[in-house]
Amino acid sequence: MSLRVARAYDRNRYHPPEVSGRIATSIVEPLEREYKGTQHILEIGVGTGRIAMPIVARGVQFTGVDIDPEMMSAFRQKFAGVSRRVSLVTADAQELPFANATFQGIIAVHVWHLVPDLTTALDEAVRVLSPGGFLFEGWDSPDASSAELEIQDEWCKALEKLGHPVQRGGHRVALNTSLAYLENRGLTPQETVIARWEVSHTPLEVVEALEDGLYSFTKNIPIELRFEAGRAIKPFMNERYKELETPIKTPWSFHLRTTKV
Ligand code: SAM
Repeated sequence: MSLRVARAYDRNRYHPPEVSGRIATSIVEPLEREYKGTQHILEIGVGTGRIAMPIVARGVQFTGVDIDPEMMSAFRQKFAGVSRRVSLVTADAQELPFANATFQGIIAVHVWHLVPDLTTALDEAVRVLSPGGFLFEGWDSPDASSAELEIQDEWCKALEKLGHPVQRGGHRVALNTSLAYLENRGLTPQETVIARWEVSHTPLEVVEALEDGLYSFTKNIPIELRFEAGRAIKPFMNERYKELETPIKTPWSFHLRTTKV
C-alpha cells in the first residue's frame, strides 16, 4: 500500500480523540490491574497506529507487527520523538517472530479477515501471549441503516452489473471464526461496545473512498472498474442526495472483545 493510501486510511477511519482515549483505557486498564506496569503489548496488523498511538502515549512497552511496511512508516512518523518504548517489525501474523509467552496483551483490530489462515494466526497469538494474558479484538461498526452503507451497496450492485461481483462480509466471518476458536479452547470472550460517535462525510467523499480502494473488500478490484462503478451510480446519487457536497452523518460504534487466555 502506498503512503498516500495509508494517510487516506487514517482520514477515512478517523476516531475522535475521546473514542481513541476510551479504547486505550479499555486495553491498558485490565493489563495494569493484572501486571502492575510490567506489561508488554503486541498489536498484530498495527497499520498506521490508529489504535496504537494513544496506547503508546500511556508509556507502555509496545511492539507492532504488520505485513506492509508502508502502513507502519505512517505510524513511525507519528511516534518519532514521542516514545522510545515502541518497536515495529515487518512480519506475517501467521508466523510471529517472537518467543513463547513474550506479551501480556495482544491487540487485533480489523486484521483477522485479511489473514489467509486465521487458525494459524490465532495459534501464533496464543503462543506468544503469557498464560493469563489478554487478547483484545476490536472493530468499528457503522449503523446498519446509514447512508454510507447504502452508497456502498449501490456501488457494489453497479460493479456486479459490470461483471465484477464483490465479496463482502469477510470481516464478520473472521470474527465468528475467531470466537469459535477461542470458545473451543474453553475460553470466555466478553464483547462490549466501548464508544459511539458520528462521522460526517459528504456523499461524494463516500464514493471517492470506494474509488480509491480504501476498503479491504475493494482492494482486488481494478482501478478503472472502481471509477466506472462510481460513474454508474451518479444518477442514483443525484436523485437520492441532491446536495452531494453536504455532509451526511453516520453513527459508528467501536466493539472490543476481551479474552483472558
Ligand atoms: N489495526 C489497524 C487499525 O485498525 O487501524 C490497521 C487495520 S488495516 C485494515 C489492516 C492491517 O493489517 C494493514 O496494515 C495490513 O497491512 C495488515 N495485515 C494484513 N494482513 C496481514 C498479515 N497476514 N500479517 C500482519 N499484518 C497484516
